Formats: sequence, C-alpha cells, structure tokens
Amino acid sequence: MARRVGDGLSPEATAKLQTAPVAPDLQDLPVDQVRNVGPQVAAVLRSRGFHTVGDLLAHLPSRYLDLRNADDWRLVRNGAWGSLVAVEAKVEDQRVAGPPRARRIMLALREPRGSTVLRAVFFHAKAGMSARLAVGQVIRVVGTLRNGMTGPELVQPKVVAQNARTRPIEPVYLGIGSLAPGTVGRILASALDMALGWADPVPTAVAQTLGLPSSLAALRMLHSPDPALTPAQLDALARGDSPSHRRLGFEELLALSVALERARRSSGGARRFPIDPTVADAVGARLNFTLTNSQREAVATLLGDLSSGEPMRRLLVGDVGSGKTAVALAASLAVARAGGSVAWLCPTTIVAEQHAKTVERGLGGEGGPLAVLLGSTTARARKQAEKVIAEGLVRTVVGTHAILESGATPPSLGLVVIDEQHRFGVAQRLAMVAGRSPSPHLLVLSATPIPRSLALARYGDLDVVSLHEKPAGRQEVTTRVVAPDDRAFVVRTIERALGAGGRVFVVVPRIDASDAPDDDDEYTGPRTDMKTADAWLAEALGRERIVAVHGRMGAEQQREALDAFRRGTHPILLGTTVVEVGLDVPAANLMVVLGAEFFGIAQLHQLRGRVGRGAQKAACLLVPESAESEGLARLHEVATCHDGYKLAEMDLERRGAGEWFGARQSGVDVTLRFADPTADPVLAAHAREAAQRIVSDDPTLARHPSLARAVRRLLARGAAPVGEEAG
Ligand code: ADP
Ligand code: MG
Repeated sequence: MARRVGDGLSPEATAKLQTAPVAPDLQDLPVDQVRNVGPQVAAVLRSRGFHTVGDLLAHLPSRYLDLRNADDWRLVRNGAWGSLVAVEAKVEDQRVAGPPRARRIMLALREPRGSTVLRAVFFHAKAGMSARLAVGQVIRVVGTLRNGMTGPELVQPKVVAQNARTRPIEPVYLGIGSLAPGTVGRILASALDMALGWADPVPTAVAQTLGLPSSLAALRMLHSPDPALTPAQLDALARGDSPSHRRLGFEELLALSVALERARRSSGGARRFPIDPTVADAVGARLNFTLTNSQREAVATLLGDLSSGEPMRRLLVGDVGSGKTAVALAASLAVARAGGSVAWLCPTTIVAEQHAKTVERGLGGEGGPLAVLLGSTTARARKQAEKVIAEGLVRTVVGTHAILESGATPPSLGLVVIDEQHRFGVAQRLAMVAGRSPSPHLLVLSATPIPRSLALARYGDLDVVSLHEKPAGRQEVTTRVVAPDDRAFVVRTIERALGAGGRVFVVVPRIDASDAPDDDDEYTGPRTDMKTADAWLAEALGRERIVAVHGRMGAEQQREALDAFRRGTHPILLGTTVVEVGLDVPAANLMVVLGAEFFGIAQLHQLRGRVGRGAQKAACLLVPESAESEGLARLHEVATCHDGYKLAEMDLERRGAGEWFGARQSGVDVTLRFADPTADPVLAAHAREAAQRIVSDDPTLARHPSLARAVRRLLARGAAPVGEEAG
C-alpha cells in the first residue's frame, strides 16, 4: 500500500529538521476542502499521494489542446489533415465491432446544418459508451483530423457534452487512480481558484533578479494557459520547458539547498573511530571471500573519514553487484569494535531482512545483539526493541523506514548506513543525522551514477567514493529481447535454467492491472500483472514451482516466499519491483522481465543485476508487451550494454535528467518533481547561492515563513519511501 506521505518521519525527527514554527497556508489545505472533491474522491486522491492543494497543483497537464481555431467545419471540408478540430456534430450512424474487452465503435458524424461527414473510431470502448453515442445525439468531438480510408476521420477523439464550455487552450490531464481525466480537470480548476493569494516561498527580490515569474503566475499559466500565447510558447509549455516550469523547479531547488545548508551548519563534531586496518580482511573471512582492491580502497577512505573527528558524509557509488555491502560492513565493524552503535536503513523489507543476516555474519558478534525493525513490526515488539536500545543493550539496528521513528536508533549513534539511496528522499538522509550530538557518521550507498550537476544539487553535502571493478569470476548476464509475449520461448528458457539447478525471477510491472484507471481512454500503462502472468506460468511450469511476492504482502509472507525461493522448493519467484533492489540470491541464473518496456533503463539494469551473482552462467529475458512501443529501442540498449554507467548516460542523453532521474520515473526519489539540475545547472547554482545567503542572514528562517513552509513540504514529501514498498 502507498504510505501516507510524511509517515516516514516521526514528529521529533521532523521537528529537528524544522525551522521556526509557521502556520500552514493555502497550499497545505487538505484535498477534501477543494470544491468537487467528496470523501470518496478524496480517498482516491490520498491513496495516490495527493494530500494537499499543493500536491494537486503539482499534477500538471500532460498536454494542451489548442482549440483557438478548431471549432470550424471548414477544416474538415478542406481536408486540413493533422489539424486539431473541435466541432459539434450529429451522430448519423453507429457500428460496434469486436469482443467486449476490445470493443470498437465507429461513428458517422454529420455537420449539424451542413452535409460534411466525419468518421470517428473508438478503440477499447467502455460499456455504456455506445449508448452515449447513439444515433441522433449531438456531441462535440475533439481530435486530430486524419485522412482515413473513407475520408476525414478522427481516431479516439475526446467527446465533450454538447453544451460544455471548452476553453481556448484546454489542458489535458492524466487520470489519477480511478478518476477519469475529465474529473481530474475539474478538480484542478477548483484547486487553482484556491491558489489565489497564497504566499510565495521564493523571495521577490530573488525571483526578480533571475527573471522568474511569481508562483501564482506560473501555476496559472500551467493550468489555465493565457489565450494570447504564441504557438512556440504553448509548445514550450507542453514540452515542460517554459519559464513557469523553471519557476517551480527553482522553488524546489531553493528549498532543497536551504535544507542542506541548514543541516551542514548545524552538525557539530563527530566521534573519532580509530583506524583499524584489519576490518576488511575480517569481513571478507566471515563472508568467505577476499575483498577486491576497489573495495579495499573504499574501505580505507571510509576509515580515514571515521577517524577524522568531522562527521563523515559519504556517497558510495558502485554498479549493481560490485559489492557495496561488504564495504559498508567493514566500516560498521570499525565502529562496532570501538564500542559505537550502527544503524542500517534499507529500502525494502526483503533487503532489510537480508542485510540483517549479512550484518550479523559480518560483525561476528562484535556489534552485540542486533534488532530488526520493519513497518510491520508489532507495537509490542517495537516497544521491547526501543527499551533495550535505550538501555544500550542493542547497538546494531537494521530496518526499513521504521527506524526513522523516534526511539528506534541507539541514543549515541556512531554510523548510519543508507542502502539504495535513490529509494529515499533527502529528508530521510537528513533525519537520520539531524539534531544529534556528536553527529553520527553517514554512509549512503547507490548503484545509480549521478551527473555532477545533479549530484551537487541533490548530494551537495556528500563526498563521493566509488567502486570501479566487480569481484573476479563474474560472467556477463546474456540479455535477450524476446518477441512480444513469446510465452513458449520464455517457458523453454525457464525450464533450461531450472534444469541447470538455478532459480528464476519473473518480474511484472503491476500487481493488479485492474487497478488501472477504468474510465481512462488515455491509459497507456502495462496490462501485464501478477494474476495474468501467474496463470500462464502455472499452467506451463506447474503451480507447485512458483511463489509470488509483492509489496502488498505482509513481511512474514514475503519472508516465507523468499525462503522457499532461496531453498529451491519453489524455484520460480514471480514478483513486482520489490525484487528490484538489493536482493542477493547467488543461485539465481535467470531474470525474466514481462512488460519490459514499462521499466526504465536503470530499473532494468538493476533487475538484471539480481542474477549472475554467483560463478554460474546467467541470462536475462526482456519480454515486451507490444512490438510498436518506442521502448523497444531501450530494451535493445540494455541487452547490448552491461555497464550501468554507460546505460545511464545513454538514457540521460535521450530523455534528459528530468525523465531519467525525476519523479516521472517510478521508483525514484520524488524530492524534485520539476527541477532538472542537469538540464539547468545554472539555475541549481543560483539556488545554492541564494540559499547560502538566506540561511546565513536568517538561520531559523523566522523572516522567511513561506520558504520555511516550502522546506517543510519538500522534506515531508521526500519522507515516504519511494515506489511500491512494504514496511
Ligand atoms: P551491491 O553492490 O549490488 O549491493 P552486494 O554487496 O550485494 O552488491 O554484492 C553482490 C554479491 O557479490 C554478493 O553475493 C556478495 O556476497 C558478493 N561479493 C561481494 N564482494 C565480493 C568479493 N570481493 N568477492 C566475491 N564475491 C563478492
Ligand atoms: Mg546492494
């Protein structure tokens, strides 16, 4: 289940990050106070992470319909192919074809007081649609005019009620959950009304110097574009590359820079942990391998940091499978041996339980007993854990975001390790170390390479150390793009992998495709889900060999599923992206990704990284849903390139950082929804400078209340785990 945004941080942790108290403002009003939003709609909105008016207004139109010249039958008569038309028409003939799931409706439409005929085709027509479009009805259709087989034609046009008012430039929104795009549009219009008169977080002088519009002007332009826009300006708006977008991005960058700047100023000294050159070998011996040179160098760097008296702020970057865990373990052992406490923050329950075992082995008792805290830990168990932690009996804690809450970590924390940093927001990183004295050392691990400008904006407070080689003996994972939905080939390959004594992952893009917005003609998301995949896999391979795991299952169920998979009693694991990060099952030799075009490049590379971790040969099958999809090119890139850094670069080049590392790709930190520091490093630099000036003049932000609110909102947003996660 999606957790409520903000749940990840305790009031105490939030308070530590906060500034002078400020009253909430209009942006913080809950969604149920918006006109057109009843209790049911509010529940849908909240389940999708929309809690406040501000959250709603961040849902920008996916495109704009320029209807300024579109209400004109002459366009149809003259065959103005490719133009947008929005004409009123009478349904003269209707035909329905195809099975219920793929019903097509074809209409002949006539000009009300003329003779021009226009055809319209609707695919995947929902029940009830043919009645709405019955012969004799007068409707308004909006779509792009095409030269069809039998003359002018609209494919999948938007249908507007006869007398409905259309605006000259109509914003088009994606549906939210079960809310249709039209409903979302009405809600957004009401939310925009409420934005009138809210306080601007960016100081006017700063905005003016940079030539940025006010917050209100930007939101107005985005949700209700000025009819006087030129086509080029409208195009920029649609591309997400307008002054209004820059403005929203700047606000985020400023809030983020202010948060980092305040954290930097407030952390005092840190405890010194003596350099112990034997930790790398000790950890290697306990895990039955020898650390690579790259791992040793990284360990040496970390030991230096830990002994300096300054709080370590390190980002350890290394491709999937490069062995980051062992490096973090060596640092943890150095701290544990000197009597310090250690906390590991993990992105998923699965990873937390796996790391708990590894940490236990790696520390070999030198860290004392260990506590595991998960979102699913019962209140009673948690109370007990808090008690022994407070008494100093437990110095090692491993868990998910549950360890961010008060009482979960030892009072004097020596080292915090955050695994798979990209799954967490800035808020968690700051919360783990904020307000503690002496300041804990911080080590964050990430497989995602980060462009420099983005790193500066997002991780400006961290120094980077990287692993540039993988443990010896690793073989490349043979990756193959399979013909769309070629189940026979998938089944044969799975049989072969199992025959070689391996384990097979099958990953699907959705838990349940019936969650897809029902009334949403624009839904272009995946149709492959757990149920459909389970049905054909079980039929071909035998139900008794398959075990399922996804984020809506309880921790206990997830653990059982994973144990069955590791032991091999159920050698096929069917799952969602909960298996994307961190999971380490050395016997796994095949990764099958269904609906592969719905995953980002970085995600596919991570998924592939789940196999080939032992010495045996391993393979990865990327199975798209359809052949047309643009995503196919991406799949071939992943198939031919095995270097996570190169893949990230290619991806970055094609899509820009906003798409690549922004909120728009699922499973990624949502701290920055609009800002793209890679595309606009200058803006990010301006934000840093402005933040330094503001914080040095006004350390508690007492004189910048609306900026203080923006910081709090940004941190709260970044406080919930990203993507599908189970506590
Ligand atoms: P990641 O960097 O993706 O988090 P892990 O730390 O999970 O990678 O390590 C991947 C796998 O490689 C694990 O099974 C781990 O035990 C193994 N491993 C790590 N370091 C070495 C090494 N130096 N030699 C052999 N195997 C190693
Ligand atoms: Mg890992």
